[in-house]
Amino acid sequence: MGKWALLERIADSADAVLQRQGHVSAIDMLTQARVLEPVHVQAWRRGRVEYLEQEIQWRGDKLGEALEFFQVWAGRNGLRAEESQPEGRDGASTAPLRFTANDDPARDRVYRLRYFRPSATDRERRRIVDSETAAPDLLVYDTLRDSVCGECQAELGKGALIVLEKGAAVCLACADLDHLVWLPRGDAALSRRARKYSGLAAIVLRFSRARKHYERQGLLVDEAALERAESECLEDEAARAARRARDAERRDRGDADLARRALDAIRTIFPGCPAAEAESIARHTMERGSGRVGRSEAGRELDPEALRLAVRAHVRHRHTEYDSLLMHGVDRAAARGAVVSAVDAKLHAWADPNG
Ligand SMILES: [Zn+2]
Repeated sequence: MGKWALLERIADSADAVLQRQGHVSAIDMLTQARVLEPVHVQAWRRGRVEYLEQEIQWRGDKLGEALEFFQVWAGRNGLRAEESQPEGRDGASTAPLRFTANDDPARDRVYRLRYFRPSATDRERRRIVDSETAAPDLLVYDTLRDSVCGECQAELGKGALIVLEKGAAVCLACADLDHLVWLPRGDAALSRRARKYSGLAAIVLRFSRARKHYERQGLLVDEAALERAESECLEDEAARAARRARDAERRDRGDADLARRALDAIRTIFPGCPAAEAESIARHTMERGSGRVGRSEAGRELDPEALRLAVRAHVRHRHTEYDSLLMHGVDRAAARGAVVSAVDAKLHAWADPNG
């Protein structure tokens, strides 16, 4: 391709994207020019590609010229640039995405710029830039095969929920997502609200062999968020019926007698734990199929150590910034370290409320 043909292709591609969506980035332009595949951009955002330029078909001087001309084109069209650094996600952890092999600051900046029409309002620009900066959703997979947790080595049967971290399966207990409750898809308003209120949330996917792609099964959200979302949706009789069905399912899954004994045991060890919280911990500990393979087996025999661990996990999730740290990509070990003294203080207060 001659130089003029290259410049024309860049201008045409950038124009086409600008006409379609009102703003354009170098990545959009390269995708439109068909030298960067959307599926590779997706993989890069999921942390599966080390740096973006690996996937761009143009290399070296040609790519350099293309990016330079793209900026000239934007200037000529009077477009307004906004800079943002997108986050990628691998399992529960997030990290800033890389563009170039050697992290060249000038070149990286070209990829971070998005050009808007001068007529775009501050609010429009902010919305687009925020959605671009945010890491993609946390995904949980409903597995079709037996697998083994890469951290605790527990055998996970078919239908276990897992997170993929660096390509390896990790159970929900190890990924610290096992306190979340399941919300099947089907009620769009409820799902939207529950996700909005949930500090930590994940989308559950299952591979459809017939359709050969992943299908959304529902969400994992925190219980308080689900309750708030449900109470907002309760105006609606359909939501009320769904609530009854979910309650029945939860009761079936839990063993009422064991849950009562667990509740008594928790209140004996932690007399200062508020009743509603003790009940919620006891119910979760007894529920089957919540993904906490090793822990729930111990919990079902009312091992006091397992109950202590369950209360500790509850405190970490409910009474500290832990979930928010995880959601912002802080890794589990660092997040646990940051909240350990707050957790200990709360447990101490609950164990000895008059102390
Ligand atoms: Zn595990």
